[in-house]
Amino acid sequence: MFARQKLYEGKAKIVYATDDPDVFLTHFKNDATAFNAQKRGQIAGKGEINAAISSHLFQLLEANSIPTHFIDRPTAEDMRVKAVKIIPLEVVVRNIAAGSLCQQTGLELGAVLKQPLVEFYYKNDALGDPLLTRDRLLLLELATPEQLDQLQQMALRINELLSAFFQQCGITLVDFKLEFGLDRNQQILLADEISPDTCRLWDQGETDPDRRVMDKDRFRRDLGDVEGAYRRVLERVLNQPVQPLVQEPVQE
Ligand code: ADP
Ligand code: MG
Repeated sequence: MFARQKLYEGKAKIVYATDDPDVFLTHFKNDATAFNAQKRGQIAGKGEINAAISSHLFQLLEANSIPTHFIDRPTAEDMRVKAVKIIPLEVVVRNIAAGSLCQQTGLELGAVLKQPLVEFYYKNDALGDPLLTRDRLLLLELATPEQLDQLQQMALRINELLSAFFQQCGITLVDFKLEFGLDRNQQILLADEISPDTCRLWDQGETDPDRRVMDKDRFRRDLGDVEGAYRRVLERVLNQPVQPLVQEPVQE
């Protein structure tokens, strides 16, 4: 069925070509890395869990008019996607202060941001994925000003949709990382994955700052029961149907 020619092996996934040049197959691995791959490990079942969570969330976003690369999930650990040229940016949206935002600004862990913060990091492992300024991003020609505006708008809309969805799951969406790509018509599609590897997710049923963590911070910080936490996210995500969530903005 699929010509399994490996195009790229990353830290969490392998990208394969298929017999259709516009379609790639992404295989989700159990490998886990953190701190720019200085810490490495395995999380049992992660490939399957993240493929399932990502697939559900991409379908939810599609149902809410966000163009994504998602096609289908032919096997438990594989997702078929539209081939895109990845824009080398990690688009991070934050609702609550955590991680590098706390380290670099002194904001306290858990501080609720008055409005969502969108940040652009250079997706470049050799440079350690540095935070970019708008001017540096344009200097490096990583996106045009128009594309940058569109990325910002899409990221904020995706945040509204995912925040509302996770709220229904009893989970607080603290922050998350997105990747976008351009298809052959230069249309921007949401790509890559959305999973506990790429989101900070806090269980609203727990107040303890360690016990509430349902994402890769359990691995980063050796909090234990990483697989259990990922499975609980999966269970709650699959319990919520894929449907239009928040009203579309009214067109004048
Ligand atoms: P990395 O270690 O670079 O983060 P991953 O293990 O996450 O890599 O593997 C996925 C790779 O595939 C990433 O480089 C990601 O940008 C890329 N990718 C994701 N979706 C698509 C797509 N639809 N088309 C082409 N490349 C993609
Ligand atoms: Mg990745």
